[in-house]
Amino acid sequence: MDEACDTVTTRATVVATIWSMNRTLAANRVQVLVIEDDETIGRHLEAGLLSGGYGTYWSRTGGSGLIRARESAPDVVLLDLGLPDIDGVEVARTLRAEQPDLLIIILTARSEEIDVIVGLDAGADDYLVKPFNLTVLLARLRAHLRRRPDSATDTEPIRMGYLVVDPAARRCLLRDREIDLRPKEFELLLTLARHPGAAVTREDLMAQVWDENWFGSTKTLDVTMAALRRRLAEAASPIEGLGTSHMPTITTLRGHGYRLDLSPRP
Ligand code: CA
Repeated sequence: MDEACDTVTTRATVVATIWSMNRTLAANRVQVLVIEDDETIGRHLEAGLLSGGYGTYWSRTGGSGLIRARESAPDVVLLDLGLPDIDGVEVARTLRAEQPDLLIIILTARSEEIDVIVGLDAGADDYLVKPFNLTVLLARLRAHLRRRPDSATDTEPIRMGYLVVDPAARRCLLRDREIDLRPKEFELLLTLARHPGAAVTREDLMAQVWDENWFGSTKTLDVTMAALRRRLAEAASPIEGLGTSHMPTITTLRGHGYRLDLSPRP
């Protein structure tokens, strides 16, 4: 009698454990929001993401996608640029403003470089030109997710003189004043700041800040670097008495890469 009772109890415990494990797995699953008006592509993406182990939502308009992103706080958004209601670039800009840590990948039929640059400038992390291979998309997703900071040391603020780069808060402060950096500018500065005084190659920067499978133009790196330098200079100029010895500089190493130094070389 007692034995039967124990068996029932054990079974109930096992069922409860499995149920809670499944719930944890579902909660830990990376959630991908697809914003795409094309039925065929949307269905293809939804099926591919589910089979790849991702949780997925699908919105067919920019407006409903933005609402869905606010409600369900996904980890990743796959964003079509050509949407029926709002321009995809505008959706990317809004998503980035509302959710700084969101991974945004643009899906575009527009292969013009200018559209891609505008999209990346609006806050997207990466892009794929249609028609794309689902295996490539899943590989890109894995690469991006691998690079997400998840250990304590990855999120510790980095101090260089008066400049503080705080990965956890995604903030950059110069003598306690916040410098407004775009996502890629911040990533670029963070990557350099993680190796102070050391040369970082263009290839490493492209891989760290953009994508390890990046095969686009490295002109994006130069454009982003120029913007970063401008913002640092603009932030430093109104601060009186800010000695150059306390202001990091980014040195160009021709044909190689860049180096972040605390003080300029004599
Ligand atoms: Ca479309």
